Amino acid sequence: MQAPRRLFVLNAVTACAALAGARLAAAQTTPALVKDDEPTAVALGYVTDAANIDVKKQPVYVPGSSCGSCALFQGKAGDVNAPCPVFGGKQVAAKGWCTGWSKKA
Ligand code: SF4
Repeated sequence: MQAPRRLFVLNAVTACAALAGARLAAAQTTPALVKDDEPTAVALGYVTDAANIDVKKQPVYVPGSSCGSCALFQGKAGDVNAPCPVFGGKQVAAKGWCTGWSKKA
């Protein structure tokens, strides 16, 4: 009777370890989100929501433009966040914007 219990415990521990490993791998492969107050973000006028842009401070802003319509946005249509090479591959918000915006072809 002890062997099946040990086998059950061993299987449970193995499953938990595999789950923890999978979660760790997922966390390590998902790039971090750019925050508005990071030095590079501040330098480039990045905002996570283009609706918050002060057009007087950002005269180069094209109304209606956002990361989702930028040539550098690495996501697909409908992605909420995706990597941007301007930020070293960190993720930016599709509805964000920065002065590096370039219209997607
Ligand atoms: Fe967004 Fe384009 Fe600026 Fe990257 S370069 S943060 S995708 S506007």
